[in-house]
Amino acid sequence: MMTMKSALITGAASGIGKACAERMAQEGYGVVVADVNLPAAEELAAKLAAEGLSAIAVHMDVADEQEVEAGFDKMMETYGSCDLVMSNAGVQIVHPFEEYPFADWRKMMAIHADGAFLVSRAAYRRMKASGKGGRIVFTGSVQSFVGSKLKEPYNFAKHGVAGLAKAIAREGAEYGIYTYTICPSFIKTPLVEKQIPEQAASLGITEEEVVKNIMLRDTVDGVFTTVEDVANTLVFLSKDQGALTGQSLRLTHGWAMM
Ligand code: NAD
Repeated sequence: MMTMKSALITGAASGIGKACAERMAQEGYGVVVADVNLPAAEELAAKLAAEGLSAIAVHMDVADEQEVEAGFDKMMETYGSCDLVMSNAGVQIVHPFEEYPFADWRKMMAIHADGAFLVSRAAYRRMKASGKGGRIVFTGSVQSFVGSKLKEPYNFAKHGVAGLAKAIAREGAEYGIYTYTICPSFIKTPLVEKQIPEQAASLGITEEEVVKNIMLRDTVDGVFTTVEDVANTLVFLSKDQGALTGQSLRLTHGWAMM
């Protein structure tokens, strides 16, 4: 077993999670790339290893309690610590509200709500037991503060993770466990690329109109946030000594300012 600072990131095989996994590895963390897409997670871990960095891949469906606990056990076996955890895995399913299938609502709750609970609880248990504490970071969204058409379950869940972070911040403080919610506006990842044609079809508008009039309309500059913005914020939070615990950080180009 190595003993080095470690970071487990869920949904790390793509988009935001991937950029954050790469950055934390560059920062000297042993990284656990946790994702349901194991081949993509393994590919990233191999790429990082080829660069002389430390990473392992684990299959983890964040809605499955046993898989989550097993992934964290693997982290402890490999690195002997659980210093930073990012609960980031997510999907988006959009429908007009009156047509929203209950099965899709449940799918959204399983990944976003059950997933955030299971991952943060697994992290909390190990951070408390180590006596060293640690940092738990949730990927929220601008949708943690506003409401958007077609996204009722997503809004429900993203508002929820910000509350979960606040509660854990109170309970975890005496053990040195700090929590944060990073809340980006739209970032061009596969999750968003997929939504552009879907929203255009649901709302009967063009794809350009979805980008300009929905995704970027409420920013001050019409600019997408980037995965690098999130990775930079994660590095910044990894050095916080509790001053920011419980807070939600808005990376939104002025959309939903405080
Ligand atoms: P993405 O689709 O690029 O990546 C999501 C990753 O999560 C994928 O690798 C996927 O395999 C994995 N995943 C899906 N279900 C999973 C499960 N049950 N267990 C484990 N892994 C699972 O998406 P992204 O844009 O990088 O999104 C990451 C997070 O950021 C999500 O929580 C999303 O809601 C949030 N977010 C995204 C944006 C954006 O504009 N892209 C903005 C704000 C918040």
